[in-house]
Amino acid sequence: HQPLHELDPDVAAVVDAELHRQQSTLEMIASENFAPVAVMEAQGSVLTNKYAEGYPGRRYYGGCEHVDVVEQIAIDRIKALFGAEHANVQPHSGAQANAAAMFALLKPGDTIMGLNLAHGGHLTHGMKINFSGKLYNVVAYHVDDATGQVDMAEVERLAKESKPKLIVAGWSAYPRQLDFAAFRRIADEVGAYLMVDMAHFAGLVAAGLHPNPVPHAHVVTTTTHKTLGGPRGGVILSTAELAKKINSAVFPGQQGGPLEHVIAAKAVSFKVAASEDFKERQQRTLDGARILAGRLLADDVAEAGVSVLSGGTEVHLVLVDLRNSELDGRQAEDRLHEVGITVNRNAIPNDPRPPMVTSGLRIGTPALATRGFTTEDFREVADIIAEALKPTYDATALRARVTALTEKHPLYPGL
Ligand code: PLP
Repeated sequence: HQPLHELDPDVAAVVDAELHRQQSTLEMIASENFAPVAVMEAQGSVLTNKYAEGYPGRRYYGGCEHVDVVEQIAIDRIKALFGAEHANVQPHSGAQANAAAMFALLKPGDTIMGLNLAHGGHLTHGMKINFSGKLYNVVAYHVDDATGQVDMAEVERLAKESKPKLIVAGWSAYPRQLDFAAFRRIADEVGAYLMVDMAHFAGLVAAGLHPNPVPHAHVVTTTTHKTLGGPRGGVILSTAELAKKINSAVFPGQQGGPLEHVIAAKAVSFKVAASEDFKERQQRTLDGARILAGRLLADDVAEAGVSVLSGGTEVHLVLVDLRNSELDGRQAEDRLHEVGITVNRNAIPNDPRPPMVTSGLRIGTPALATRGFTTEDFREVADIIAEALKPTYDATALRARVTALTEKHPLYPGL
């Protein structure tokens, strides 16, 4: 019964240091968020001890009467949140959700279509050395050079040429909304399944601030830890017709025992995601991203060779184009790190620099919105970033402005 700091001071020190890092810097990695304390409490609970292979009411282990209840709560809540006919809340991560969904619908060697990685797709959408690229024949689609938006004419042409069994619509680094109805029309024309990976924008959908892919797709996958703001994990939503296939692809197809402590934490986060507060937070997330894009499109920033891909944003992130800047992606990431802002460098379409360097930054607002940042605060954040990316930047002054913001919005007080 020893607490962590007594039993293992080495690990406790890391946890403390990470808490301090999160509290004292501005977290702007677009895929990150701050889980509520109640979510972490559920995740740190005794449910971690329980084996529960199978599904509620149909387990391969005894003693599942309580975890059955919590898994059913999670299922019911997420179905209601997105209007889905079926939900599987067991995938350990977004990548595993995608692997299981594909395993349910495809055979090795089948053709899939997905957004090219360098154009904003995810590894699991067909990257060469990912399982998706190794098991399936991948035909990638792209964003249009001029608009920075997915080229739907190309999607249609490639679908007709390659007759995929599955089309994946979704992204990890893309600042616009996708046209799910158009994807479904194309999928129907060629007899393909439509799978939407809404990992990044699920929170916006839950809040009613982004089109919902569920009515259009055969399968929708998501992570629970990005805009949705829950514990790290994955979920698969589908039509009732595909329910059996999806469930058996997750277990026993891909996974063994579900993480019931994480499923309990997912359930808590789905309750939060149905609240008015959550909706208001997602609105601030969108407002913050729009403010950031606007600031980075101003003349003084353009003079430093910095621009915004697609000319703006409709979601929670901005893609910064550094092709004409003296800073490459790595240097810009380091520069922002120096002033206390955490972002990630990101390859952009037709990037002239190598993948470890890149010519882009991906900057997201979900974590700061969760921290309580208002539009006024986001204006200050946007200005700090704009100044930091100029050759004339003053690291000490900018770090002080970051600290003022972190002190204005304390994170996890009392932890
Ligand atoms: N799908 C998309 C669109 C993502 O952006 C990510 C994560 O970055 C994933 C899936 C994978 O999620 P995880 O990291 O939980 O495996």
